[in-house]
Amino acid sequence: MMFKGYPQFENFYKNGVYLDNAATSYPKPQCVIKSINDYILYNGVSSSRGAYKKAMEADYMVYETRKWIGELFNHKKPSDIVFTSGITEALNGIMCGMLKEGDHVVTSSIEHNAVWRCLKTLERDRNISITNVEITKEGITNPNDVEKNIQQNTKLIVFNHASNVIGTIQPIREIGAIAKQHGIPFLVDAAQSAGMLPIDMEDDNISILAFTGHKGLLAPSGTGGFVLNWDGDIKAWKSGGTGGNSADPYMSEITPNKYEAGTMNMVGISGLHASIRYLLDVGVDKIHNNEKEVIAYALEKLESIDGIRVFGTKDPEKMVGSIAITIDGIDSGKGGSLLDKKYNIMVRSGIHCAPMLHKIMGTDKNGAIRIGIGYTTTKEEIDYLIYALEELLKGELA
Ligand code: PMP
Repeated sequence: MMFKGYPQFENFYKNGVYLDNAATSYPKPQCVIKSINDYILYNGVSSSRGAYKKAMEADYMVYETRKWIGELFNHKKPSDIVFTSGITEALNGIMCGMLKEGDHVVTSSIEHNAVWRCLKTLERDRNISITNVEITKEGITNPNDVEKNIQQNTKLIVFNHASNVIGTIQPIREIGAIAKQHGIPFLVDAAQSAGMLPIDMEDDNISILAFTGHKGLLAPSGTGGFVLNWDGDIKAWKSGGTGGNSADPYMSEITPNKYEAGTMNMVGISGLHASIRYLLDVGVDKIHNNEKEVIAYALEKLESIDGIRVFGTKDPEKMVGSIAITIDGIDSGKGGSLLDKKYNIMVRSGIHCAPMLHKIMGTDKNGAIRIGIGYTTTKEEIDYLIYALEELLKGELA
């Protein structure tokens, strides 16, 4: 018997424990699955194209999804909510659409490649300049350092809300207030916070909020977008059909059409429609508080194991459910794969598309193991992870 003396772990071993929610949330709520199924079975048509009843039902679903996303982030105008294929497209589109030769950007060394690579490409191809504000040892930005680095030609401040590696939450409200004072747009990468932390476009001083559907928003991959609370110029990054004014050779200047060329991802949006409703009904506060309890539990247990190093703030009040660890004497790639092979526990090893942060952590060569806690993760699953890590340490180092 694999887990002699641990009958409570048998099911986890048999069915697997998913701890890669920072990559994508799994499982999705039943209502999301039903909504996708119902859309394909009973509607299945494009929005903003036809004038028949079914097309209008599809239009209404898209409209209502925008409206509910506005409710979730406290933004009143549904037409300011733009859909893209995910946050990578949203961030790239926004930054490429607004930054010009000679512009300067303030960002941080904790950013995901969806921000960093896009900025580096614009630095190379468009001669923009970038200042990476340093982060504290805990992984948090000091807003004063943002202000100190503002220049006359600073045209954008962009930060992630929460780190996809160590989970730390940035003081976006304070950074946003500084951006506002200086009249600079503030773009927030909410990939790791939307649906996990309360976000308020107004109170948090956010000019543009980029979100992805498949993580904390509990929708399928291929969904995402941004909420526009800024009236500066962002050029459309693609052209094509919008279902209106088809004889015009150029894209409409009206949001959201301006940025939504091509048939929309209706299957994905039908999932987002249900998942946003679910989040509004359950309440992000409640999800956040439940996750916080599991995060606190996991941190306490992980830190008590000799041979496990935990990175970041280690304060459940200051983070979302991404916990980065290393195991003494075991390469992170091997550790992750042993957790899967021997215990059926799914985590993510490597540098998690955040090379600058891993350099600061000293894990840029061997990477770290990321434990991604999600809205369904239980303390019992954490107990199983702890058991597996202790066994690994015993077995592999013996
Ligand atoms: N930003 C952050 C902070 C992320 O964690 C991720 C996904 N790991 C992205 C951007 C990119 O998200 P997507 O792949 O959904 O476009």
